[in-house]
Amino acid sequence: MNVVDGSKHAVDLSHGLENVPVLIERSSSVPIFPEFQYSPENIEGPGCTVDPSEVTLPGCSCLYHSCCTESCSCLQTHGQAYDSTGTLLDRTQTDSGYCSPVFECNALCSCSDTCSNRVVQRGLRLRLEIYSTRNRGWGLRTLEAIPHGTFVCEYAGEVISFEEARRRQLTQRSEENNYIIAVREHAGTGSIIETFVDPAVVGNVGRFLNHSCLPNLFMLPVRVHSVVPRLALFAGRNIDAHEELTFDYSGGYSNQPPVELLSTQSDAAIKASRTDGLQRKPCHCGANKCAQFLPLDLSILSGNNPK
Ligand SMILES: [Zn+2]
Ligand SMILES: [Zn+2]
Ligand SMILES: [Zn+2]
Repeated sequence: MNVVDGSKHAVDLSHGLENVPVLIERSSSVPIFPEFQYSPENIEGPGCTVDPSEVTLPGCSCLYHSCCTESCSCLQTHGQAYDSTGTLLDRTQTDSGYCSPVFECNALCSCSDTCSNRVVQRGLRLRLEIYSTRNRGWGLRTLEAIPHGTFVCEYAGEVISFEEARRRQLTQRSEENNYIIAVREHAGTGSIIETFVDPAVVGNVGRFLNHSCLPNLFMLPVRVHSVVPRLALFAGRNIDAHEELTFDYSGGYSNQPPVELLSTQSDAAIKASRTDGLQRKPCHCGANKCAQFLPLDLSILSGNNPK
């Protein structure tokens, strides 16, 4: 047990599995705390064809403390995603609306653990607190200021197949939260990679993030050791201490156009087939331009412009 800030926080929700304790605000009249198994990383769930803990990507042979673009095969193949301090570089989307995918150095790379191309894999570093929001159940806030571009946390859980995601969504009671995130990435050749992550039963601190139509975090698929992406959340602006952390479940961010406008026809068709028959739930984010309903799923346009 970690005791932080006197008696207010008595529990580390991660039971020591994270680098820093995940705190829970203990106050009166809080909703019932959900039971789930804590896992800092994705695990293989029903229908998942690739074990996310398996190392399936090649590594570089750099002998330096930190990799540099002149000599590193990882950075030459996939581009540089972070600056020397591990802050995400501005990944301004091109006219096509696609941003290049992020690949970190992995278990097969010979560079050191402190290589600046290792960020998400180093795990949680910020002091975050789960607390009871006024009207949206549990939420997650930061106890320290977070600069723009900083990695905040992963959205980790069971990696499942579409069929399993569908089965779980259709058997949900209307008062239950839907935690399943579907990420669609464009692989460059026009093919689309889909990843379904469900943190409801096995998951990490990311499951407490609420949706907002005006969020302060955005989600980016990041590959480390495996072809199965980790769903990483980064600060989309400078965030003050004690602000609630939120992201847009539809994959958008603030002033950027909604993903739908940029999607290809094939993506729109897949999206429609994936969400057919699912019930929409009201959104209580309170943003000026609130869409009134929670998005049903998320598309991330990552990859090269398909021809
Ligand atoms: Zn490296
Ligand atoms: Zn390297
Ligand atoms: Zn490498």
